[in-house]
Amino acid sequence: MTKWKDGIAKITLPTPFPVGDVNAYLIQGERLTLVDVGPKTEESWHSLTEQMADLQLSPKDIEQVVLTHHHPDHAGMLDFFPPSLEVYGHPLNERWIHPTETFFQEQEEFFKVYFHEFGVPAEYFSLLSKLRKTLKYSCDRSLTGHLVEGMRPHGLSDWQVIETPGHAQSQIALFREKDGILIAGDLILAHISPNPLLEPPAPGELERPKPLLQHNDSMNKLLSYPIQSAYTGHGEEIIQLSELIEKRLTRQHERAMTVYNWLKEEDLTVFEICQRLFPTVYQRELMLTISETVAQLDYLSSIGEISSSVSMPKRYQA
Ligand SMILES: [Zn+2]
Repeated sequence: MTKWKDGIAKITLPTPFPVGDVNAYLIQGERLTLVDVGPKTEESWHSLTEQMADLQLSPKDIEQVVLTHHHPDHAGMLDFFPPSLEVYGHPLNERWIHPTETFFQEQEEFFKVYFHEFGVPAEYFSLLSKLRKTLKYSCDRSLTGHLVEGMRPHGLSDWQVIETPGHAQSQIALFREKDGILIAGDLILAHISPNPLLEPPAPGELERPKPLLQHNDSMNKLLSYPIQSAYTGHGEEIIQLSELIEKRLTRQHERAMTVYNWLKEEDLTVFEICQRLFPTVYQRELMLTISETVAQLDYLSSIGEISSSVSMPKRYQA
């Protein structure tokens, strides 16, 4: 039974993705706000409708949406709402929630260049033309307005925006100072570590983002806020946030050191490391596992433990 607690109602929606259910949050601000909307599936829409009925509400009552980030499990269902619904989020949501042909081509080109650098064999390059299909459960609509660091969303004057890139370049969290409640998106989850996904550079930028380094910075940034509890994009709330952040950072370091030890033995390409890290899934989930592998190398480079050759594909050495 969905109910209000501290002016927030947690709505859990089914998704067609391996991650399972996604959480959206209704907030009773000056405007009734839904934070994230779920994927574009009939099941998810029915589930939202039923859970809102528990509160004597319907999706029609929602006055605005705030997106924590652009991923289809969080944003896709926007397509089921009337076009007049106001949607707010970080500007970097736009290229994903309202993708243009130019963006699809840029994305393909970006990964093509990096697949060469990573030593990905030719047989996998056909994946690149299928990238746009990963947006099947996503939406096609624009943001009404932008939310960036320090802003208070219209109609949510108790809440401030904290930019938390890493898992997605577009990711933000919402923080309410008066009781220390955080809505964290997928920055940190109680049961799993979110993937540091590779994305093309933001418009006007030349270098690719280093999502794991951003993710670690975003987690460290949260340590400076007096957070009492965090509502997350998947699974249960987190009460002891700082302990969990420390645990995640330690575990992350250990994982990278496994790769470091391999690189002490021999020079390897990103693809070769990916095969070792994910022997049973790399073929099926190449984009995910490559992102995860690059993350380890970005981290080891940032702490000065490894270097790479200038040849293509690049070979890494400890
Ligand atoms: Zn996500």
